[in-house]
Amino acid sequence: MQDAGRYAIEYREGVGKRSIVPEMDVDEAVSRFRTALPEQGMAANSVIDQMVEDADAGLSQMCSPRYFGYVLGGSHPVGVAADMLVSAWGQNAGSAAETPAITGMERAVCDWSLDLLGLPEDCGVGIVTGATVANTQGIMAARHALLQNQGWDVEDQGLFGAPEIPVLIGDAAHSAPFAALRYAGFGAGRLSRVAVDEQRRVLPGAFKTALDACDAPPLVILQAGQINSGAFDPFEVLIPMVQARGGWVHVDGAFGLWLQAVPELRKRLAGVELADSWAVDLHKWLNAPFDAALCITRDRAPLVASMSARGSYLPDTSEHWEPTDSTFELSRRARGVASYAILRHLGRAGVQEMVARHCRLARLTADRLASVPGITVLNEIACNQVAICCGEAAEGDEQTRQVLDIVQKNGLVYPSHGTWGERQIIRISVIGYATGDLETDMLVDEITAAWQRVRGGNHAS
Ligand SMILES: *Cc1c(COP(=O)(O)O)cnc(C)c1O
Repeated sequence: MQDAGRYAIEYREGVGKRSIVPEMDVDEAVSRFRTALPEQGMAANSVIDQMVEDADAGLSQMCSPRYFGYVLGGSHPVGVAADMLVSAWGQNAGSAAETPAITGMERAVCDWSLDLLGLPEDCGVGIVTGATVANTQGIMAARHALLQNQGWDVEDQGLFGAPEIPVLIGDAAHSAPFAALRYAGFGAGRLSRVAVDEQRRVLPGAFKTALDACDAPPLVILQAGQINSGAFDPFEVLIPMVQARGGWVHVDGAFGLWLQAVPELRKRLAGVELADSWAVDLHKWLNAPFDAALCITRDRAPLVASMSARGSYLPDTSEHWEPTDSTFELSRRARGVASYAILRHLGRAGVQEMVARHCRLARLTADRLASVPGITVLNEIACNQVAICCGEAAEGDEQTRQVLDIVQKNGLVYPSHGTWGERQIIRISVIGYATGDLETDMLVDEITAAWQRVRGGNHAS
């Protein structure tokens, strides 16, 4: 453990000096590790030494402040330190009475997160592995409630022969809620995909038409933070329309829901608090180590009824808080503890500062890139995501790919790829806990220099 601690510190101290992209590719890595099962064991400290040596060149510097790819948190060091203790403590956090200290910390994470996210303090909350699972659980709670309202107990009677639940989802939703709907038995082929505007927000007119076509109270999936544009659906307009019809609104707020923590920014997602359930990651904007997210439901009862492993009959929805009542898992890691440490370390002011800083830097980055001739910023900066493309049309798509390739291979900063309608884009996510002006300046310089090379035609690859 001492060796591992020392290696962990060395890695994190050196992360800023490394190329962001790993030197070793996946084929090499797999052949290095995937040997025949050793017949004889090896001393514990030799295993750790060897593992570090073999893995070093195959790590991607995702916790670097210069990592702008996908939408990933940077594993805040105080959370990592807490996570090391979680492993050492070896608590099975599935049972509150057996692990009281963990339950105390995880309940604090639930309370504090609800407070920061501007949601009612008596919501049901499950601490899960990621927003994909959080979306699945929220949708399963919705399934329970909507079917119960139609006189059907899905926990007992299952889905075969159940009344229909119409499902509406924005056409620019993330792939995760689509998967979640499949996991929950809704099927991918029977969803109504609602048209969105050019910023990927659900269009109220199209939404009303889709709602009017529903012959039962629907399940509606909205989004706080579209993966490319960062846009928020117009919750204030849409949610009351659904609730007037007895439906359930679930919001995929994997990263974007954290904007709620900043009072000045809350108006951008006004009405999001009216929904019935929310999925939000802790391992993205809060920068908790992977895997951590929250599934939140306004009414705790359907969450417990659908998740409790203690039997669907008479679920205990009393004050007693049993972790396994709100999550899929029975045995589980104390995965809320790292977020406890981060929230304790940052406090309300620290979370607000971080989220506001990322939004400010995204705006600044977009403005600077937009002033470079031939670079187009495609999105209105709604939060921390910036979507750009280079050049025009088909030639521009190829040039955009070349620019991204040069920037990524250079290894100083790491934005990633996306698509915007027909166009290839470079997507920038400003989300690392330590990302500041220095890093976004470097990103702008790297992209600008690569674009000048590509446009000048001297980009020998
Ligand atoms: C990342 C993301 C997800 C999936 O979350 P995981 O934590 O990777 O499971 C879902 N929705 C949105 C909008 C996301 O950005």
